[in-house]
Amino acid sequence: MKPLTLRTKLTLFYSITVSVLLTGFALVYYRVLSVGLDQALTQELIDRTSGLRGYLRFEEGQPVFAYDPTDPDEVSFINTATRYYQVYEIRNGTLLAESDELRALGVEYSAEDLSRYIQAPPSLIDLQTDQGKLRLRNEALAAEGGVYLLVVGTSLQPMEDTLTSFIKALAWLLPSGVLLAALAAWFMAGKALEPVAALGKAAGQIAVSSLDRRLPVRGTNDELDQLASQFNDTLARLEKAVAEMKQFTASISHELRTPLAVLRGEAEVALMQANSAEQYRRVLASQLEEFEKLTRMINQLLTLARAESGDVAIAHEPVNISSMTESLAEQLEPVAASKDVSISCKCDSDVILRGDAAWVERIILNLADNAIKFTPTGGHVQIKLSRADSSAILDIADDGIGISPDDVPHIFERFYRADPSRSNRADGAGLGLSLVKWAVDQHRGSIQVESTPGLGTRFTVRLPLSLWERAARQPAG
Ligand code: ADP
Repeated sequence: MKPLTLRTKLTLFYSITVSVLLTGFALVYYRVLSVGLDQALTQELIDRTSGLRGYLRFEEGQPVFAYDPTDPDEVSFINTATRYYQVYEIRNGTLLAESDELRALGVEYSAEDLSRYIQAPPSLIDLQTDQGKLRLRNEALAAEGGVYLLVVGTSLQPMEDTLTSFIKALAWLLPSGVLLAALAAWFMAGKALEPVAALGKAAGQIAVSSLDRRLPVRGTNDELDQLASQFNDTLARLEKAVAEMKQFTASISHELRTPLAVLRGEAEVALMQANSAEQYRRVLASQLEEFEKLTRMINQLLTLARAESGDVAIAHEPVNISSMTESLAEQLEPVAASKDVSISCKCDSDVILRGDAAWVERIILNLADNAIKFTPTGGHVQIKLSRADSSAILDIADDGIGISPDDVPHIFERFYRADPSRSNRADGAGLGLSLVKWAVDQHRGSIQVESTPGLGTRFTVRLPLSLWERAARQPAG
């Protein structure tokens, strides 16, 4: 079955609610009306009976109504009240007088019925006759030594007719009300959902090539406006991500093209010019270096891509960053010495943090490697590791070429390398610091850089210590 549209669902819901409400109201109103009419009719019958009793006299055992025939009010009352009436002599069970209407209907109490009314209080009975329902009031009265029963009636037909017309009116009013409500609901739902359809249409037209487009925000600040705004925010994020991706792809192609061109050029030149084994060996050695750089770059790229897509799990194990820093500084000494750069390392002992040893090592290596790389001959690199409250602080400072203030905000971006004329461009792809930043973030740490061109650079990394160490350092008790 085809699923119902939101508009149909809203219309159905609204129509059903209105039908239930209308029917409920109609039932309550019918009940109130019928009870009200019934009570009014009974009261009128009681009033009519007591009024008639006032005019009733017995002359020689025969009932007569003593009223003023010149008074139109009295005449009218007597005419109405005596439309249905009977007077019985209870004791001997005779019917003394009755109206034509009751005679025609053949209503007559038996002696047994009458005997029940002698002592009884006034009562009401409803009778079903050929001319519809009749309500009779029976009232016993004593006069002129006799006991009589005055019976006064009224037809219930007008009341029944009123109630029937009410039901008939409802029979078409209710469906028309529901139909009108359904039409109104259909129209209102259509109107309310119009902006949703417009949003859907606008959203459907947005493709990767047109991520700069935005959904219309009408300024009403309703739910739909909020939806459009949130969608627009998502679009903005997507646009940024796609732009970064494009930039990333362009950068990769660019980065790969240069070493490939070098490799190709070298091979072509060797093919044309080289003729001794020594010359070929030199070309192959140079090509091997290029291959190594390419491999390093591709590895870095893969790591970064895996890291950013969330595929890399960070371990949470105790890492002795003090001994790690010392041993890395030792390993780097020959590299620094080959450039005539001195390196010193001052570490607080046994600073232990909770983290991933391989990534912490990568952070230290990358920063120290950069410091050596961007420090000219005769320079100095200083590595310091200290403990402060709940963090390990790694400080790597050099007195190298520095970074210009314009470049500082970008150095953590992928492929970003500051002014290539000042640095040894061929030696890096601008990915090292992106990886460092990612690893620091994963360890819930922070990284700061201070640099003055020509004077040097200082990177400060703060990494939270392991809970394990903090607990151990707390005084017992
Ligand atoms: P690369 O692999 O090119 O070194 P990084 O991401 O590690 O890439 O660094 C990005 C850029 O930041 C470098 O190209 C360099 O311009 C600058 N930089 C990083 N560390 C230093 C430093 N210690 N001294 C001067 N410049 C630095």
